[in-house]
Amino acid sequence: MIDETKIHNLLEKTKKASLSSDRIDEILSKAKEKATKPSSEFEQNLTLEDVATLLNIDSKNENLTNRLFKTALHIKERIYGNRIVLFAPLYVSNYCAASCLYCGFRAQNTSLERKILTDEELIQEVEALQRQGHKRLVMLMGDHPKYTIDDFIRHIKIAANVKTLPHGAIRRINVEIPAIGIDDFKKLKATNHVGTYILFQETYHRETYKKMHPFGPKSNYNWRLETMTRALDAGMDDVGIGALLGLYDYRFEVLSLLTHARFLDNKFSIGPHTISVPRIKKAANAPCSENPPYAVDDLDFKKLTAILRIAVPYTGIILSTRENPDIRKELLNLGVSQISAGSKTDIGGYSKKHNTDSSQFSLSDNRATNEVIYELIKLGFIPSWCTACYRSNRTGKNFMDIAKKGEIHNLCHPNALLTFAEYLLDYADEKTKMAGWKLIEDESKSITNASKKKFLKSALEKVMNNTRDVYI
Ligand code: SAM
Ligand code: SF4
Repeated sequence: MIDETKIHNLLEKTKKASLSSDRIDEILSKAKEKATKPSSEFEQNLTLEDVATLLNIDSKNENLTNRLFKTALHIKERIYGNRIVLFAPLYVSNYCAASCLYCGFRAQNTSLERKILTDEELIQEVEALQRQGHKRLVMLMGDHPKYTIDDFIRHIKIAANVKTLPHGAIRRINVEIPAIGIDDFKKLKATNHVGTYILFQETYHRETYKKMHPFGPKSNYNWRLETMTRALDAGMDDVGIGALLGLYDYRFEVLSLLTHARFLDNKFSIGPHTISVPRIKKAANAPCSENPPYAVDDLDFKKLTAILRIAVPYTGIILSTRENPDIRKELLNLGVSQISAGSKTDIGGYSKKHNTDSSQFSLSDNRATNEVIYELIKLGFIPSWCTACYRSNRTGKNFMDIAKKGEIHNLCHPNALLTFAEYLLDYADEKTKMAGWKLIEDESKSITNASKKKFLKSALEKVMNNTRDVYI
């Protein structure tokens, strides 16, 4: 699936072309045109050579990067509008037998306080997240026989059933857990609670992969690379991919991510539902986190995010609180469509005192969820907790078919506003309520489609009258 020589050659071959503003304009115009017109084929957007050329743009060349950013924003607005989906990570176990040189959970970090949430603690964590307004979780774990996939599945079922007043409920659980086999994927699928299975390849570069994972459960590159194939073979609806930025040349990683995405789309007619762009952060006793060998600076980070937006217009881009508020704000306009808020990476961090000694890595956005939401509103974004697609069978190929016709916005826009109205009624402070209802009013006025307008009006009335979970 990943032909390293081909990727390196493409990067080498396109260096000269990346200096030509005519060639860059040609690629950007093509991207814009393809993303604006409904396209049925994932791979018809840009060629890998086009993407390699964009990746070779000098990130300090403002003239070229501004054109790139403008195109990314245009495509994002066309396909996603101004919605930003919110989620929270929930770590359930930090036991890990793996040797990943960049991670604070690695087995060799003997000073880490190891913990598995008890059922009662898990419930407290979910309750605490619900009180912040969260409806979508990503549940995560380390890789250790002390905490098995069966333990995890039991915890998923518990988390899915936690309820708090006034209307707290988790409507969707995505999972980011170690590479598993087909039978385990079938068990995960059978819970009926799991949305997207997320797994980062970390690095697609074999030699680097070997160095970063010298032994233990994660040291087999192929087993990890083929995980998404097993997941989809087992019937999982959606998968999310990613690369840990800083381990190897980001240009190579982005081209590999796209190669992986296209491989999945060709084989299953489902591209990845999401792509994540985590940059390495400092982690305790993790040698590679201090000085990542290929650290990605902000300019390159913005450029690569914009390129992903352009190259896979229908795939969500996830940004976490690894990044600071300023860069998060900038990336919202370059292609990011989902963000975490109020996150903790230690075990039990939401309901107990935050304990950095048991966290996976350091975070750079420590704002409370409501602060992040208020900022989104002020920037003109609609915070969304929508999970409608999962309950309306719009997953996998069904989702992609609607998305590629450019129609998903008609469903997501009213659904996002409805979940946002729920948040304002149930969890927001006065300041956020005022700004939020004004945003809903403006957004409602901007709808021109008569039936969408009618649906939203009657659905909003239902929400105001205490009905929850109203969606198309
Ligand atoms: N333990 C599982 C695994 O590795 O497959 C599940 C994912 S792990 C809990 C979450 C992700 O955190 C990893 O895939 C890795 O990319 C990321 N990560 C690890 N150490 C990190 C660091 N120092 N900075 C940023 N992200 C890190
Ligand atoms: Fe364990 Fe995952 Fe961290 Fe590796 S990245 S040490 S597998 S938790």
